[in-house]
Amino acid sequence: MNKRIWVLGDGQLGAMLAHAGKPLALDVRPVDIMTPTDEQLPLAPQDIITAEREQWPESALSLQLSTHPHFINGPVFGRLADRFTQKSLLDELQVATAPWEAVDNHSNTETLHQRYGERVLLKRRTGGYDGKGQHWLKQAENSVIPTDWRNHAIAEQAIDFDEEVSLVGARGQDGQCHFYPLTLNLHQDGILMASIAPLSRLQPLQAQAEKMLSTIMQGLEYVGVMAMECFRLGDKLLVNELAPRVHNSGHWTQAGCHIDQFQLHLRALCNLPLHRPQVNFQCVMVNLIGIDKDDRWLSLPNAELFWYNKEVRPGRKVGHLNLSAHNLQQLTDSIQQLQHWMPMQYQAPLAWILAEFAHA
Ligand code: ATP
Ligand code: MG
Repeated sequence: MNKRIWVLGDGQLGAMLAHAGKPLALDVRPVDIMTPTDEQLPLAPQDIITAEREQWPESALSLQLSTHPHFINGPVFGRLADRFTQKSLLDELQVATAPWEAVDNHSNTETLHQRYGERVLLKRRTGGYDGKGQHWLKQAENSVIPTDWRNHAIAEQAIDFDEEVSLVGARGQDGQCHFYPLTLNLHQDGILMASIAPLSRLQPLQAQAEKMLSTIMQGLEYVGVMAMECFRLGDKLLVNELAPRVHNSGHWTQAGCHIDQFQLHLRALCNLPLHRPQVNFQCVMVNLIGIDKDDRWLSLPNAELFWYNKEVRPGRKVGHLNLSAHNLQQLTDSIQQLQHWMPMQYQAPLAWILAEFAHA
């Protein structure tokens, strides 16, 4: 019988895991854990459970999944879902991260500015994503700590980074780790707009990044794919945050690698052979955020469209485009086409992509 893997959550990551399971005849079943139901799932003892998100509401259904003996990485989700325990873990493992502290009843802006500088970023301990759950304290504006953020947030130094990169890797049950090349990411208003990978100019940072993520995955005895978002300051990396799951900045691997991040995660969960994924060509990933589907995208000769079939709302990720970059002229043509078709908020990310390739 085919191996069955249940996924806590049925968003786009769950759907892409299910898609990746097909060629290996893995029966991947994303589960909607947000809609209340009395239903119980036909879980078998040998089934495997994973999650596409780090937090979920407690219900009979989510408990059924999260208390199954094969819920892989069970304790890790809660630990990384809370920025306080996540940052504490990084400190314990001595992995470099942006300087931080917890915000409690005694915290005051004066001390925070003394310690961290003119701009301090408050982040909600839980529930933040795509830049939601962030609050800037600016000394010049005398901003205050919102009352309901005390005991529910951390304060972080504003990092004046050169750029943002991420590393996606996997640890197998045998403890071996395997990594994709570093990905260059562009965020706008806290939300990922575009990624480029691999990039030869990031190669000198690869060993440093791999060491950091393997320290984390080994420390947690983690199994499966994990993503590490970093700030690059010169030749040094600082971890921004970790995701114990497949990640948006790894979507380019669907086009560029012989094993994409979704299949790599499934292989690790099912104890199937793992090795370093081969990179077939360079890719650019453009997130589709709050815009309607446009079939003109399909006319781009080097593009693959992933449309999530979600209701389109402002700021909501509703799909992504993977563009192969092994023909530079074709890539430039496609990006220039997108500049004509896409709204204002895309002009800066698309120009950023062209600039990266102009320097290459
Ligand atoms: P995600 O959707 O990736 O989970 P998030 O909303 O949970 O994102 P972060 O990744 O911590 O939160 O922050 C989002 C973005 O905000 C970062 O990618 C970066 O651009 C910016 N940012 C976060 N922390 C800092 C910092 N300490 N200094 C400067 N910019 C920051
Ligand atoms: Mg992030």
